[in-house]
Amino acid sequence: MNHKSTIVIGAGPAGLATSKILGDYDIDHIVFEKGPEIADSWRSFYDSLTLHTGKHLSALPGMKFNKDTHLFPPKKQFIGYLEEYTEKFKLPVKTSTEVSKIYKNDKGQWILETNQGEYSCDFLVLGIGLATFPFIPKISGLENFKGEVFHSIQYKEPSPFKGKNVMVIGAGNSGAEISYELSQEGIDTTIFIKSGANVAPLHILGIPVQYLGYLMSVFPKAFQLFCIRLSNIFIDLIGGPPLIPRPSYSPLDRPPIIGKKFSKSVKSGQIKYKSKVLSYEENGVKFEGDEFKKLDAIIMATGFKLNLDIFKENIEIDEDGFAKRKNRVEDLNHENLFYVGQNYDSRGGLVNIHKDSQLIGTKIKSLLKV
Ligand SMILES: Cc1cc2nc3c(=O)[nH]c(=O)nc-3n(C[C@H](O)[C@H](O)[C@H](O)COP(=O)(O)OP(=O)(O)OC[C@H]3O[C@@H](n4cnc5c(N)ncnc54)[C@H](O)[C@@H]3O)c2cc1C
Repeated sequence: MNHKSTIVIGAGPAGLATSKILGDYDIDHIVFEKGPEIADSWRSFYDSLTLHTGKHLSALPGMKFNKDTHLFPPKKQFIGYLEEYTEKFKLPVKTSTEVSKIYKNDKGQWILETNQGEYSCDFLVLGIGLATFPFIPKISGLENFKGEVFHSIQYKEPSPFKGKNVMVIGAGNSGAEISYELSQEGIDTTIFIKSGANVAPLHILGIPVQYLGYLMSVFPKAFQLFCIRLSNIFIDLIGGPPLIPRPSYSPLDRPPIIGKKFSKSVKSGQIKYKSKVLSYEENGVKFEGDEFKKLDAIIMATGFKLNLDIFKENIEIDEDGFAKRKNRVEDLNHENLFYVGQNYDSRGGLVNIHKDSQLIGTKIKSLLKV
């Protein structure tokens, strides 16, 4: 069996950033990636996807984006950046290697079963992301609908939907962006958002809203919430209350829909917004007021939920389905198990990955010294 000091699972932004830091500390490690290339998740996302976080807060440790990269890098540029990152730091990625089972031996080392054989390691870093686990909630009556039902991960671009009536379900950025893109192609598009959504502009006075969020994050949460409430009062005074009501959670707890293109299209009626479905029928849905809408397809932009079933050891899970952690990245019960890419907030995932990869590298280095 091959042995490594540390194994990182996943060569997305999280695994690559961690590998770079482990390399800085001269820690013997390898990165396993199930896809044929790095950044497998990003390759599978829809073609028009653009980072909604600015490039200055989306870079991984040790390498900025090129000067000519767009402030909000499109998917292709982001994948190019990750490829260059892997190349520049000679990251030891082993592609087409899927980890299917993880357990501990009697020395407390991790044993990994992969399609390329068995490996053991002293420290394990899980960077498998969420995209492998599309989440479709149980929706009562949906089985009555005989049209096509997709998850947003299956959506690539609008052409297969030309001439069709489509309903997108979900209150996140993917749902907003996909419905906007469909509507721009003249496709009859409805968005169903049950519990409201926070919508924020991409910039305020030319400054990306994420950068403002980053600056604000030095203040206590109560103060940040006060500022958000105050700005909402001004926004409502100037433009009237939002068409899509604000939800019970704040934009600090869950990233808002970024960019006003979506809300403008809702306002103009290019995207029809519905908040209540009464029933799903064979060829459509019935909305509040007994309004029937014929549909050909439903796209579930309902997010992802981590699945830790590959572990044969007991891993405690929190209410959001993530592993319970201390110090952001350390498993609660296994001191040689770390998670990167599981901290999300209004500033995005990548800025947290930047921080967490460094925490993990430093922690493993300190444990190696003991
Ligand atoms: C559509 C979308 C847009 C997003 N946009 C932004 C944004 O603009 N800004 C931002 O900050 N954040 C964004 N995020 C959130 C987050 O930053 C990204 O999801 C980011 O890719 C997370 O990096 P990761 O490495 O944790 O996960 P991933 O990028 O998903 O990488 C995980 C890797 O692990 C591999 N893997 C999984 N299971 C196994 C296994 N068993 N064995 C081996 N390999 C495995 C996968 O193939 C994949 O390559 C977005 C998320 C989504 C879904």
